[in-house]
Amino acid sequence: MAKISMKTPIVEIDGDEMTRVLWDVIKQKLLIPFIDLKIEYYDLGLKSRDDTNDEITVKSAEAIKKLGVGVKCATITANSERKKEYDLKYLLPSPNATIRAILDGTVFRKPISVNRIKPSVNTWKAPIVIGRHAYGDVYKAAEMEINAPGKVELVYTKKDGTESRIKVADFAGSGIVQGMHNMDDSIRSFARACFLYAIGEKLPVWFATKDTISKIYDGRFKTIFNEIYETEFKEKCAAAGIDYFYTLIDDAVARVVKSEGGFLWACKNYDGDVQSDMIASAAGSLAMMTSVLVSPSGVFEYEAAHGTVQQHYYRWQKGEKTSTNPAALIFAWTGALAKRGELDGTPDLADFAKRLEVSVLDTIEEGIMTGDLAKLSDPPPAKILNSWDFIEKIAARL
Ligand code: NAP
Ligand code: MG
Repeated sequence: MAKISMKTPIVEIDGDEMTRVLWDVIKQKLLIPFIDLKIEYYDLGLKSRDDTNDEITVKSAEAIKKLGVGVKCATITANSERKKEYDLKYLLPSPNATIRAILDGTVFRKPISVNRIKPSVNTWKAPIVIGRHAYGDVYKAAEMEINAPGKVELVYTKKDGTESRIKVADFAGSGIVQGMHNMDDSIRSFARACFLYAIGEKLPVWFATKDTISKIYDGRFKTIFNEIYETEFKEKCAAAGIDYFYTLIDDAVARVVKSEGGFLWACKNYDGDVQSDMIASAAGSLAMMTSVLVSPSGVFEYEAAHGTVQQHYYRWQKGEKTSTNPAALIFAWTGALAKRGELDGTPDLADFAKRLEVSVLDTIEEGIMTGDLAKLSDPPPAKILNSWDFIEKIAARL
């Protein structure tokens, strides 16, 4: 059989632990036999990031900017234990945060649905996609402990030296204080990324904040989102048959669990952090959640939502063939290949990606699955396989 050819390379970003082990199996069994893979490879394994003073991470993000499509394996975010474990020189920042900052992206998380895994919310008929703003708010906040009575103010000093100030609180005793920020440009990018994604996937857009309480801060999010919709996307949304709906965050949460699903839920940074784990676990499993970073300039990076599955890796190192679920890793590849095919006008590649996805889904629907899904499967599984045998089954079907 002739292999499918590619026009433009995909940026391949390798990672750590169990996902790195499976990454290679996926390539060897499911991709290389069928595709004449064109890739630009970056090793973001922890040691390689440390050896290059993290330059490799910056280079990989620059490469995605240049080539337009990347696929990333899960990576360790270093902490003091990892520093010892890997004998590191530095405590490097999260590679995902570094890449996100360079690509100015919004992260979209979508569950992979199979009939055998029923969502805990029985009204959901179609997946709910979370679009998480990935800049600012509590993640870039300044915090202070107050230990004695006194006054806390916010002070803004303009470039010309003029100041404006506002009282936060008078402290009668000890307490805490926090200052958050966001940038209009970042909120605009977030809104654009959400509408672009929603139009591509033909999903209605929901957005929610707490603008009744936070009139300036959350109010600005509401205003900018609405402006971007009205001025740039209203007609395009209408043409795609989708609409835009704004409500308060508590109302949104209540509606989500009564909805039929099938929409994009645009969330501020913290809401997205919390709600994406709720959606993932209510939809089945973290191992069945895909993630794509979309930048407003039209650049895409695909990955699995889960981490490196550390505990499975230690068992694998002792010789166990673990039953780690490779589905989200495979879907990271299919997402990237399909997007590459779409951007390059190479339908064979996009078609292959679709077939590979169907092969994964049909294998699970037939009752053949990994251990994590076995616990959730209704009806119960026919066969529980280790990752290697599971991938062989997918390859045979493909
Ligand atoms: P994790 O790797 O997502 O794993 C947490 C647990 O979830 C696992 O122990 C496993 O449960 C289950 N799980 C996750 N993915 C699975 C899969 N594909 N198949 C079967 N079970 C799966 O999270 P973590 O252990 O908190 O983090 C490990 C490392 O990953 C950390 O160093 C962290 O920095 C990194 N991380 C990276 C990313 C990323 O690169 N995008 C994201 C998150 C975390 P059982 O043990 O019960 O089987
Ligand atoms: Mg989280």
